[in-house]
Amino acid sequence: MIMQKRRLGRTDLHVSVAGFGGIPIIALSREEAEKVVRYAYEQGINYFDTARAYGDSEEKIGAALKNVRDEVVIATKTHQRTKEEAARAGIKQSLRNLQTDRIDLVQLHGIDTEEILKKAMGSEGSLAALEEAKSQGKIGYIGISGHNPYVLEKAIETGKFDTVLVPLNVLERRAAEKLIPYARELDVGIVIMKPLGGCGAPLQYPQWGARFLGKPEQDWPDLSEFIPHFGRDGSERAHRSLRFVLAHNVDTVIPGLRSTAQVDHLVKVAEEFRGLTSEEKRSYRFGQLPPEPFCRECRLCMPCPDGVEIPTILRWANHYTFYNIQEWTRQQYPKLGTKVNSCTECGKCEEECPYHLPVITMLKEAEKRLK
Ligand code: SF4
Ligand code: SF4
Repeated sequence: MIMQKRRLGRTDLHVSVAGFGGIPIIALSREEAEKVVRYAYEQGINYFDTARAYGDSEEKIGAALKNVRDEVVIATKTHQRTKEEAARAGIKQSLRNLQTDRIDLVQLHGIDTEEILKKAMGSEGSLAALEEAKSQGKIGYIGISGHNPYVLEKAIETGKFDTVLVPLNVLERRAAEKLIPYARELDVGIVIMKPLGGCGAPLQYPQWGARFLGKPEQDWPDLSEFIPHFGRDGSERAHRSLRFVLAHNVDTVIPGLRSTAQVDHLVKVAEEFRGLTSEEKRSYRFGQLPPEPFCRECRLCMPCPDGVEIPTILRWANHYTFYNIQEWTRQQYPKLGTKVNSCTECGKCEEECPYHLPVITMLKEAEKRLK
């Protein structure tokens, strides 16, 4: 079978629907990392995502792909926020690391608040450095990445970004509500990170994580109540989770990869994917979001003057009710420093919430379930 390719938004790049997330190769030797990256290319993956902030990931990807540079799409990121830093420590270094004179896509990295977005987009912000590099032919396209769909919607509205990189997985569906349809409408390329929950918090794939990432299994919830046929085998969970993400209207999906076995697994899932079965749709509650009112975790209500971690508590409340993950969320709640009973009902969060949520009532309901 042949890997399906999709046009990346309004760019002229055609990318494999399965892409390569470049964080886990940091843990490999140079030789091993280059072998995995090169193997991914040979199996039909042509989209490679990395970042200046990912240790030596850029260098490993650059070395592995230098002989096939014109056959692949390399996307990196700059976490610098000022024009001067992004030009000096960001783009220049990335070009050197990647052993190339032109990077296909450079994304502003980790734009998670409106404040950071404003800084990066200001006249002395990092976006100006990317625009300058683009006009000099060092960069093909400019993208944006982050974990807060609310902020990313504001960003792509400006028309300055050709692509958006955001998490989407069975437990993290916020991007599906507005960001993905809006990006599609604007013809902005859509790249999905953390389809398996991410390296740091692989919520739904304990065995996958234990087997392939060397992570302990503690603190990960059992999804079997929510999705009965999510078995205990990590590869099977990863298989089903990737299918869930591929069923969305996205251009490429970039799980972090660190072995040829993982590459084989991803390629097989992507090549065989022809849409979800009706049983999968029903079981995943495909296309559904938690019932209203629910918190989008935009964090505009933060910080709470009494230190209540509002978005985290409301996320766990969703996990408890919509996803039926009860035991795990009950275990997590006591570990939070400041809980709902610290709330003095000042009303600030309700005034600031752009979704006009009855936050105080929601917090009280959450505590009844979680405590
Ligand atoms: S109402 Fe409670 S939770 Fe909301 S900001 Fe005030 S103290 Fe914090
Ligand atoms: S309660 Fe409202 S403002 Fe606070 S994080 Fe959730 S959606 Fe955003």
